[in-house]
Parts: sequence; structure tokens; C-alpha cells
Amino acid sequence: MTPPSRIFNFSAGPAVLPEPVLEEAQRDLVALPGVGSSVLEVSHRSKVVTEIVETAEANIRALAALPEDVHVLFLQGGATQQFAMAPMNLLPDDGAADYVVTGSWAKKAAKEAELFGAARIAASTEAEAFARVPKASELALSPDAAYVHVTSNNTIYGTQWEVLPDTGDVPLVVDASSDIFSRPLDMARDGIGLVYAGAQKNLGPAGVTVVLVRKDLVQRADALSRTIPTMLRYSTYAASQSLYNTPPVFAIYLVGLVAKWLVAQGGLEAMAERNARKAQKLYAAIDRTDFYRGTAQPDSRSLMNVTMRLPSETLEARFIKEATAAGLAGLKGHRSVGGVRASIYNACPEAGVDALVDFMIQFERANG
Ligand code: PMP
Repeated sequence: MTPPSRIFNFSAGPAVLPEPVLEEAQRDLVALPGVGSSVLEVSHRSKVVTEIVETAEANIRALAALPEDVHVLFLQGGATQQFAMAPMNLLPDDGAADYVVTGSWAKKAAKEAELFGAARIAASTEAEAFARVPKASELALSPDAAYVHVTSNNTIYGTQWEVLPDTGDVPLVVDASSDIFSRPLDMARDGIGLVYAGAQKNLGPAGVTVVLVRKDLVQRADALSRTIPTMLRYSTYAASQSLYNTPPVFAIYLVGLVAKWLVAQGGLEAMAERNARKAQKLYAAIDRTDFYRGTAQPDSRSLMNVTMRLPSETLEARFIKEATAAGLAGLKGHRSVGGVRASIYNACPEAGVDALVDFMIQFERANG
């Protein structure tokens, strides 16, 4: 049976996965080599699943050169659950955390933190329609904060921190849902205590959330006075290698394959180079004419989600429709902002970006 041909998929998430990963999963779906059962059919208490989780963790550790004092955890509930779980585990009732509000996901995270302690808004660019991330000089950070929360890439608005803010001794908690492993990650150098990401953009399928967390932060919950349900404690996952209950085995298996694929691509330095080149091509296509208008300020432009407007909503709708017909899918902007958005995560091939640039030129010729 010949597989159906694949389109170029620019969806913001769930998003395109590397083709070799899909092929490997397909090959092994009916029977894992040496096992004789599908990865979907084996007990989570079996050696097979333990090895799948261990392999996924090992591949992530190798990829990101994670220090020994960092746990790799596989959770459920999406990044949205982390909006609550991070403050539940890290923020004392009478404490405060600093939140940098760079988009609606960051805003939701701050709102959730208010359930547990004080979420101070260290900066917000909402008045500028989230068209940029703040400069270091605009951040009102306090040394007494339990942590500083940032969203490293703002999926909806197409902005990204090129360099994460320096928070001194206060640990950073980073929602990296839409740019994890798109560039090197140095948790120790950048003072990062916790990184979380729903897998469905840069890591794998929906259904698993990857959390990288420093061991000392995992222990913090023990000192808090509140009762934390077992499944909402980081320490539960750390102590059981994410196997306290039945984990999303298939999703973890795919995350492991994606991490292995990233290592084979040359690792995070190579991905960063490739991602910068892809984004540069699209921004150059936007900037060469007035027909397309990038929505993010140039110094905050995301290398993952490229957002733009056309001269009218009618033209935007036509652009998206004709692009889809030409095999370029998923280009509709988030429903809260409209416009056009090309998500060009790790697994988006450069040929897809080239095809989109060609389409943009032709579309302008026909409609400009
Ligand atoms: N944070 C960011 C930056 C996101 O882009 C998203 C999803 N688009 C979320 C959080 C929410 O993620 P989930 O659907 O996994 O809960």
C-alpha cells in the first residue's frame, strides 16, 4: 500500500511531526521488534514500557545536555495544567511570584497562580496588543519572588524572547510549549528551575507534557502548608519515574523518537541554525513588500510562529483558502487575533517554507 502523500502542515499544534518518526512508529505499531505486541498493548508495569520511558528520558537528556540535578517528567493535563501545578508546588500561600505577561497563555498562567498566592505582574505588553516582549529594563522583579514565570514563545502573537530575562537568584519557570528544543537550552546558565511544554508542537503528539525541573524545586512542595493531591505533586512523578499510574505510553514513546531524531539532525545547535534560516526566509518575504505586514515587532519576532496580516480580511480568507488548495495547510491565525500564522516548528521542512514563500509571491502578484 502506498502511503497517502503529505502536504506541508503549518498548524500551531498539534503540529507536523518528522516523517521518519511517523514511519518508525508505523513500522512498529503492530508489533514492537522482539516483543510481538504493539506499544499500545503492553502493560505499563512491563519491562518494555519502563524501557520506553527510560529511553525517552535518556534521549531528552542527551539532546539538551541536562544537568544531573534536573528531573525529566512526563505528565498529563497539557501546559494548562502546569499553569496550576507550578504555583501549587512552588508558591507559598503568603508568598508572591512574578509573572511576565506577554500573551494570553501567560495571562492564564498568572490568573491560575492567584489561586495559590500572589501573582505580581512584573511587566505586561497587553496595551501594545502583545506585539513584543518587554525589555529587561521594563521588568519589575523582586528578589523575594518564589519564582519568575515567562512564556518563552508566544504562539498566538508570534513573539519570542531571544534571550530569557536575568532573574538573579530567583528561579525562572518557563512555559516553553511552542519553542522547547528549537534552540539550545542551558538551564544552569539561565537560572531556569522549571520548564514545561505540551508535547504537541515541538515534541510529539498531544497527551503528554514534558517537565524539566530542578530537584530542589521538586522538594519545595514539602515545606508548603497546603495539601497537594498526589497526582499534582512533582515529587510523585520524580519518585516513580513518571510511572505512578498508567502514563500516556504511546505519546511518551513518540516523544522519545522525536528526541532521537533531533539528536540525529545534529542536536539543538543545528536545529537553531535551521530554524533561524527558515524564519528568516519568511520574514524576508513579509518585509519585501507592503502587501504583507508582520504583527510582531522585529526585535521580538518568533522563529516558530510567523504571524502576518494582509490588506483585508477578505484577502486573508482567500490566501488561506488558496494556500490550502495548494497543499499548504494550517495557516489560519489564532481565532482570537485572526490574520495568517505559519508555525514552522522543528519538524517543518525547509522545503515547506520555500513553497510558502513562492505562494506568497504569486498570491501578491495576483491580488496586490
Ligand atoms: N502555553 C502556550 C505557549 C501554548 O501555545 C499553549 C497551547 N497552544 C498552551 C500553553 C496550552 O497548552 P495545552 O493545550 O497543552 O494545555
